[in-house]
Amino acid sequence: MNKNTITKIIYIKFGELVLKGKNRCQFSALLLRNIKKALFDFKKLIFIYKYDAILIKNIPNQSFAEIFDIVKMIPGIRLVIEANIIPRNQTKLCSFLLKNLPKKLFFTFKVKTKRIDKKYPLNSLEFDRNIGDFVLKKFSHAKVDVHQPQILINIEINDKYFIVYFNKQKGLGGFPLGINGRVLVLISGGIDSPVASHLLMKRGFHVDFLTFISPPHTTKKSLSKTIDLIKKITLSKRIEQKPILYICNFTPLQHEIAHISNHSYQITIMRRYFFRIGQYLAKLYKYSAIATGENLGQVASQTIESIITISDVIKDTIVLRPLLTYDKEEIIAIAKKIGSFEISILPYPDACSGFVPTNPVTKPKITVAKKLEKEMIMIKPIYEKTIKSIIKKEI
Ligand code: ATP
Ligand code: MG
Repeated sequence: MNKNTITKIIYIKFGELVLKGKNRCQFSALLLRNIKKALFDFKKLIFIYKYDAILIKNIPNQSFAEIFDIVKMIPGIRLVIEANIIPRNQTKLCSFLLKNLPKKLFFTFKVKTKRIDKKYPLNSLEFDRNIGDFVLKKFSHAKVDVHQPQILINIEINDKYFIVYFNKQKGLGGFPLGINGRVLVLISGGIDSPVASHLLMKRGFHVDFLTFISPPHTTKKSLSKTIDLIKKITLSKRIEQKPILYICNFTPLQHEIAHISNHSYQITIMRRYFFRIGQYLAKLYKYSAIATGENLGQVASQTIESIITISDVIKDTIVLRPLLTYDKEEIIAIAKKIGSFEISILPYPDACSGFVPTNPVTKPKITVAKKLEKEMIMIKPIYEKTIKSIIKKEI
């Protein structure tokens, strides 16, 4: 950077991870690595690591907005700020403000200085006052409001430069991806499971996926919809460790389940097999947990009795259900924010959706489910064949 120029930067402040005491170094190193991976396509960026923040410099003008949007979706970041580095010279700072504050409109403002370099001759209050006086003098339509200013002029005094910014934007928050291990999410083409995956990533889990397809009842389009959803929510192009999708052809099991004597239990038993297969993969590939987009009370298969009966088949794998207590509107709002909603509502049949009995049982019992499963004398070899033919695909 030329010493005299003003440089536009992205200023990133960490989230909860600063609270994590001793682990902080490990967390912030992982976050920095994730940010670099996410911005891998932009070759000339310079990353500067500070105690609780990261600066990105050398950003090409034409890519600024794109880079800003990517950073906003990286888990573990509390604030993403468009800021300026200004040489440490009050005249330069004032001319920057002259250029960048609204020329004609009325506005209220407050100056908030943070003196990082304690050797700077003015303390923060004196500096606030100096700059405030300057703004009042030059902008006759400006007024100070210390409680709810329309423009908060943030100034950080560093040893060689000022960092100045007006607008803060919230980052995604949460923890850096990967800090909490790996989870296998059961993903459909619906609205819920992509949102559940997003929330898990936000909490720092690396997520891989398992989807059940049932050709010819579902077409290639259903599967490519699920793949598009995964791409959307994982920023997959930009992350080195690509997410894996396990694709399981459920049709043979589905046909067998269709023969049980009590049809109202079809979904319950189908879902018991979903979980068995999820558990099988979780153990085989050492996932810490499996996860679903299940939500209490939305559909017949999601009553507490149903969840108990379905979970009965997995005794030693934990199931995470991040959406359990969410309202549908809350889920849709997140789906819209992360861009999965538009894909989820495309009208391709979901795997196994052609399989819904007219009267699904709402309070299934474990004993009944077990008895019905015993009726399916061919199920064991079919199950064995099904798990052997699972396809593993990098997205
Ligand atoms: P979603 O919107 O995620 O499909 P939903 O509200 O439609 O959820 P269900 O269809 O009962 O509810 O599914 C509950 C959960 O079971 C899903 O969130 C997902 O985790 C899992 N699931 C359902 N169908 C499939 C499938 N075809 N492949 C993989 N997982 C599935
Ligand atoms: Mg569904």
